[in-house]
Amino acid sequence: MSRVYNFSAGPSVSPEPVLQQARQELLEWRDSGMSVMEMSHRGKHFLLIAEELESDLRSLMAIPENYKVLFLQGGASAQFSLIPQNILNGKTKACYLKTGAWSEKAIKDAKSYCDVIVSASSEDTRFTRIPEASTWHLDEQAAYLHYTTNETIHGVEFSELPDSKGLPLVSDMSSNILSRKIDVSQYGLIYAGTQKNMGPAGVTVVIVRDDLIGHAAKTVPPVFDYAEQAKNQSMLNTPATYNWYLVGLVLKWLKDQGGVEAMELRNIAKAAKLYQAIDQSALYSNPVAIPFRSRMNVPFILADESLDKPFLAAAEANGLFELKGHRSVGGMRASIYNAMPEAGVLALIDFMAEFERTH
Ligand SMILES: *Cc1c(COP(=O)(O)O)cnc(C)c1O
Repeated sequence: MSRVYNFSAGPSVSPEPVLQQARQELLEWRDSGMSVMEMSHRGKHFLLIAEELESDLRSLMAIPENYKVLFLQGGASAQFSLIPQNILNGKTKACYLKTGAWSEKAIKDAKSYCDVIVSASSEDTRFTRIPEASTWHLDEQAAYLHYTTNETIHGVEFSELPDSKGLPLVSDMSSNILSRKIDVSQYGLIYAGTQKNMGPAGVTVVIVRDDLIGHAAKTVPPVFDYAEQAKNQSMLNTPATYNWYLVGLVLKWLKDQGGVEAMELRNIAKAAKLYQAIDQSALYSNPVAIPFRSRMNVPFILADESLDKPFLAAAEANGLFELKGHRSVGGMRASIYNAMPEAGVLALIDFMAEFERTH
């Protein structure tokens, strides 16, 4: 077996101990006589897995009591449409910050349900910075302010909580959830697909303040109505049981690592080393303004585009995979989520230096 360093943006690298435990428990979970994927979601074994999943996430993120934690399907993409339908609550407007490809998609989808006010946009700088808060146009009649904490494609991350001027803050944390400490009580709603920082694809986490739910549009299917799913412990329909289990293993691994605070320190160190290597080189560059650089997704371009293909081929020959940038921005992108060990980042840095020396 030869596992490579996988820099994919998502689905992405999983912690190896999690994969090993899943393999060990594949045929029989504890003394249940069966695999988790064969269990009834109403049975005592699975209910225990589900309870631990929620309580581990609550403790890792210090989620207050007055927030519901839902585990849904449809990805973050479904939430782009479901959020307005669930929490507009009679209002007709919502504010959005446009800071990259994912917030752009969220805006496009929300437009079917409300008047979207683009409070600020960094499109004119090709999404390489976050516009100054003093320039944002926030409408006090809006139902919420939506933003994307980490723009996975453009490599732009908010390092501070935006001032929403009292509007409930709604945040797409798909690619940086659990990578840094946040204060959940400052948010109205947080959502994230699991395939970046929480394990395999197939589960969407929604953390929502109690007072925002219970007013979904009549046309919302019950499985996508937050209040209905909350009443049913996210089991209004059959949940993605095996994926819940796998996400649960990732959360237990994260606790073993020292939780979010310890992980954040590691993520700071990993990202700093990679950006430093890029900034010091004559071949590689990262276009994002320094205060807004993502700790999770590091895009970089080569000074000579004709070297892209040889770079990717040589990287693979050195066990470094999935470094090709998103088709919309080109170049390279190294995603260095929680589960990417520092050794992987160091191997990438060494390879980049060697490639520069020989080209
Ligand atoms: C990956 C990603 C999405 C889309 O997730 P799906 O699960 O494919 O719907 C949305 N937002 C961000 C920030 C992402 O990184």
